[in-house]
Amino acid sequence: MEFDFSHSDLSATPEKQVFKRIGLFGSTGSIGKQTLDVIRANPDKFAASILTAHSNHELLISQALEFNPRVVVITDPTHYQTIKQVLDPKGIIVMAGEESLEEAASMDIYDMMMAAIVGFAGLKPTLKAISSGKDIGLANKETLVVAGDVVMALAAEKKISIIPVDSEHSAIFQCLVGENHNPVEKIILTASGGPFLGRKPNFLVNVKREHALQHPNWTMGVKISIDSSTLMNKGLEMIEAKWLFDLEPAQIEVVIHPQSIIHSMVQFKDNSIKAQMGLPDMKLPIQYAMAYPNRIGNDFPRFNFLKSATLTFDPPDIKTFRNLALAMAAMNKGGNLPCVMNAANEIAVYGFMKNRLGFLDMTEVIEKTMDKIAFIQNPTLTEYYESDADAREYSASLINL
Ligand code: NDP
Ligand code: MG
Repeated sequence: MEFDFSHSDLSATPEKQVFKRIGLFGSTGSIGKQTLDVIRANPDKFAASILTAHSNHELLISQALEFNPRVVVITDPTHYQTIKQVLDPKGIIVMAGEESLEEAASMDIYDMMMAAIVGFAGLKPTLKAISSGKDIGLANKETLVVAGDVVMALAAEKKISIIPVDSEHSAIFQCLVGENHNPVEKIILTASGGPFLGRKPNFLVNVKREHALQHPNWTMGVKISIDSSTLMNKGLEMIEAKWLFDLEPAQIEVVIHPQSIIHSMVQFKDNSIKAQMGLPDMKLPIQYAMAYPNRIGNDFPRFNFLKSATLTFDPPDIKTFRNLALAMAAMNKGGNLPCVMNAANEIAVYGFMKNRLGFLDMTEVIEKTMDKIAFIQNPTLTEYYESDADAREYSASLINL
């Protein structure tokens, strides 16, 4: 099929770096902190105009004191007064509550949103930023899993760019830059396989959260670490790729590549394959998204082919890691099913972290919820929100949350 990249200009040529004000949503998380590392290293290129957190008020305050944003938002209002007392005298506007995220996202005080909130909670502020004409650096993959059609249509209508931050999607994006509308045969998403690569159900049944949080190659937030251990992360990424690059499900392949050096690949119609490579470090895709279409220098450790171990590739074991099979089914069927699956997964991960259910039980909760919630082929945004709420309620009832 032919690609329509109307949502982001992949033929853009490097230009003089324009100073960008970043609205950093989710500044206290793993991606948020690394985004601030990039801003700190490039004060002539970037500034943080908005910082947001859910409840980590201490880190939010110290980030605000260092980066001097125009606005901070804390969605859990418990510590609002404490934050206000410290930041008000500095002339920083402090807002609290979930709706404040959308209010901040609509303000004309930033150029690009770094969407680094985790889970469904990232969807509404991202939609608000798009409708306010802001470009998006997209880390929050759940936004596209839940309502990819709505998000991409709005992005096209508003003529804004969505630049992926997820390392695989950044890799694909980088492979496509300069290709204009050259036809793509397929993309190959690489997956490390997570901490339980090669394990079978008799091992997984006893896995505890401490084991699941130990990712071999990346240090990430809790939710994505669990998703990586179940391979749900790769399923979410297949759906994310479908929307970002306007692909048919059959054009998306997953290959296990435990070394995480090839971040993903594109195979073109002429059988040429382009890969984007490097040591695993999220600061690179973060920096790339923020500086696009330029590349800026950095002192990150360099990959050395001569010192590296062998690069290996295997098929994913979707019989053992059934979350990936469920995500493939959701992607193939479409409609509200990926949204339902995502909500059930968020609840299952939460339950697993609270020791309410075992590692393999997460799959059961997701599968039962996908079977239970009414299927809608072409949902409206409101129907996506309703599907999310229904799926959360049902899956929570399965584990007595
Ligand atoms: P973290 O859990 O480390 O951080 C999440 C951020 O979102 C924190 O700032 C947190 O605030 C905030 N947050 C949490 N819940 C809410 C809520 N209900 N409302 C508003 N804000 C909230 O996550 P990561 O940084 O690991 O991941 C962020 C996103 O990026 C995810 O969608 C993930 O899939 C994606 N991603 C992450 C990668 C990584 O390497 N970490 C790689 C690729 C994609 P507080 O600290 O106060 O709780
Ligand atoms: Mg990824």
